[in-house]
Amino acid sequence: MELLEAESDLTCNPDDRGLTPEELHAGVQGQDGLLCTLTDRVDEAFLQENSHLKGVANFAVGYNNIDVAAATARKIPVTNTPGVLTDTTADIAWALMFAIGRRIVEGDTLVRSGNWTGWAPLQLLGQDITGATLGLVGLGRIGKAMVTRARGFNMRVLYWNRTRLTEAEETELGITYASLPGVLAQADFVSIHVALNAETTHLIGAVELAMMKKTAYLINTARGPIIDEKALVATLKSGAIAGAGLDVFEREPALEPGLAELSNVVIPPHLGSATIGTRTKMGNMAARNVLAACRGETPPNVVNPEIYR
Ligand code: NAP
Repeated sequence: MELLEAESDLTCNPDDRGLTPEELHAGVQGQDGLLCTLTDRVDEAFLQENSHLKGVANFAVGYNNIDVAAATARKIPVTNTPGVLTDTTADIAWALMFAIGRRIVEGDTLVRSGNWTGWAPLQLLGQDITGATLGLVGLGRIGKAMVTRARGFNMRVLYWNRTRLTEAEETELGITYASLPGVLAQADFVSIHVALNAETTHLIGAVELAMMKKTAYLINTARGPIIDEKALVATLKSGAIAGAGLDVFEREPALEPGLAELSNVVIPPHLGSATIGTRTKMGNMAARNVLAACRGETPPNVVNPEIYR
């Protein structure tokens, strides 16, 4: 806020909530730059009406809420916040693996209910994380941060990524490439780390879920629409997989009917990057990006650099 106020005539949403499309539209009138969040839809129609913008800075690394092609066509730079939230997001994927695999939320609910009758040999048995096979779907920054964590837990790591690493990189990281079906069929924990776009929407549907082991867990900290949530609820209800840890949902904040009633899911409200330190870094990064765009300079984290060529 200090960075922005020092250099601009700032109009700011004073509340800790997303704006309506009307509020967003009204807010950018007479402004050169927009610093927006992942709940703001910056689509073709918005950009058509607001083609005066000199830059759109997303307060997130994912930018599926922005029609980048439409911005590029108008020579509007779009920026994101890569890197600063990598560890924080990998940490929450890790937390979800433990929460669901070791049944922490179910156990917490039992203790709070007053119905806990004491330790029992078969009570709330889960699955080991240490020594298990981790399957990574997507090996970008956050996917790679999962590999670092897996090392400490002596896990075997399989990965599928659109772009396969070189053999030397795979050896250095200690990970093995497999096809998407191969990862799904072998992993005890499947964790999703691809970006959301047209190609990755419903990448995990009924067919893919059926490939997973009955004892396996699905973790998603990327974006909700990568998983067909209806198919996931049906799969979880049938017991065809053991459970899921989901930080993101297909139609946030709405949930697929039946999801919240399942005991074999842990469903925090999109908290991936939600630490004080990381959100502060993201804010500074987004502020520097939008200010650079408004000055007519190339922003440090531009995702459509081709507009400058
Ligand atoms: P990144 O380094 O850019 O990695 C993106 C990954 O997505 C790469 O593996 C990339 O494959 C893959 N990908 C992109 N387009 C694809 C396509 N069409 N088909 C198949 N794979 C594709 O991003 P990151 O920093 O790791 O972040 C990953 C995602 O996590 C973000 O996009 C965001 O949506 C999500 N996220 C969520 C939270 C949260 O709060 N829960 C926080 C941070 C990030 P290539 O290597 O082939 O390019």
